[in-house]
Amino acid sequence: MRGALPAEAPMRVAADLDLCQGHQMCLIEAPEVFGFDDDADQVVVLTEHPDPTWAGKVATAVQYCPTRALSIIDDEGARRARP
Ligand code: SF4
Repeated sequence: MRGALPAEAPMRVAADLDLCQGHQMCLIEAPEVFGFDDDADQVVVLTEHPDPTWAGKVATAVQYCPTRALSIIDDEGARRARP
């Protein structure tokens, strides 16, 4: 899968709220990690450092976000998974 991370890799998830348009695809792919603010009509990152076993789901959410608002960032601050 493109954008996949090794399950044991540490990761940090970030959402660019200037880009988020409330499509909620991320909630479908990884509901453990992404919530939604109905008032703001934008994503809420529920856990910035998700369980490593969710890495595949997070990578899929990043891949399928239509506005590319989501990123996975490594410890050095580099983006590691982006479609
Ligand atoms: S899929 Fe992307 S645009 Fe849609 S709510 Fe999630 S982060 Fe925002």
